[in-house]
Amino acid sequence: MKHVRYERGGRIRFGVLEGEIVTPLAGDSWSARGLSGEQILLGQVRLLAPIEPVNIFCIGRNYAEHAKELGNTLPEEPLVFLKATNSLLEPEGTIRIPRWAGRVDYEGEMAVVIGKSCRNVSEKDAMDAVFGLTCLNDVTARDLQKKDGQLTRSKSFDTFCPLGPWILETRETGGRRIETRLNGQVVQSANTDMMVFPVSRLIAHISRFATLRPGDVIATGTPAGVGPLKAGDRVEVEIEGIGVLRNSCEAE
Ligand code: MG
Repeated sequence: MKHVRYERGGRIRFGVLEGEIVTPLAGDSWSARGLSGEQILLGQVRLLAPIEPVNIFCIGRNYAEHAKELGNTLPEEPLVFLKATNSLLEPEGTIRIPRWAGRVDYEGEMAVVIGKSCRNVSEKDAMDAVFGLTCLNDVTARDLQKKDGQLTRSKSFDTFCPLGPWILETRETGGRRIETRLNGQVVQSANTDMMVFPVSRLIAHISRFATLRPGDVIATGTPAGVGPLKAGDRVEVEIEGIGVLRNSCEAE
């Protein structure tokens, strides 16, 4: 099942998507799962980021070839950082690239959406906390990342976290092809089986220091092939069985 969040006629709602038909949830809360009787065509709504997480946890260097391309070694345990929620951007939204910030890169990633609160969960039980999966572009101001020596600013500009287009309700995280296209050309191509630390390990690791809450997002790391974005670019992140997250870029 696919879960969307959308705007229509000034009202923001959650819904379920089947084919081209959106059925709104009866309540406006993500946890109110009862369906209303209405049906709306997908083309008649504006999709938003499918969830507004309390926290966006991100994983660095979780694909060996990507660590290598940036001259980094592999971490001994998952490397976790946060992306501020002001950076969220809807599908088809425009990534704004600051003119003064130097190089800004795309990073296509699979995002895990948490469905159940957990703390100190074991790797064995970790997948019970998963609600579903979506696509995420961990847009990064690469020059500022190096200059700052930490990640807050470089990862958290407004519009630097495109998310969507919907959440696929599933716990099947492995074996999915992940591909990023820049102006139609494939620039990243990998499989989620190539992660250094699997999703169960990531959840167990984060839950040792933070309570994961429903709606929280874990960006599971980007494969090799990161590169710069410029004004006028179209960038797409596609994950097999989930969907395609499309965004454009403009200079700010
Ligand atoms: Mg990343």
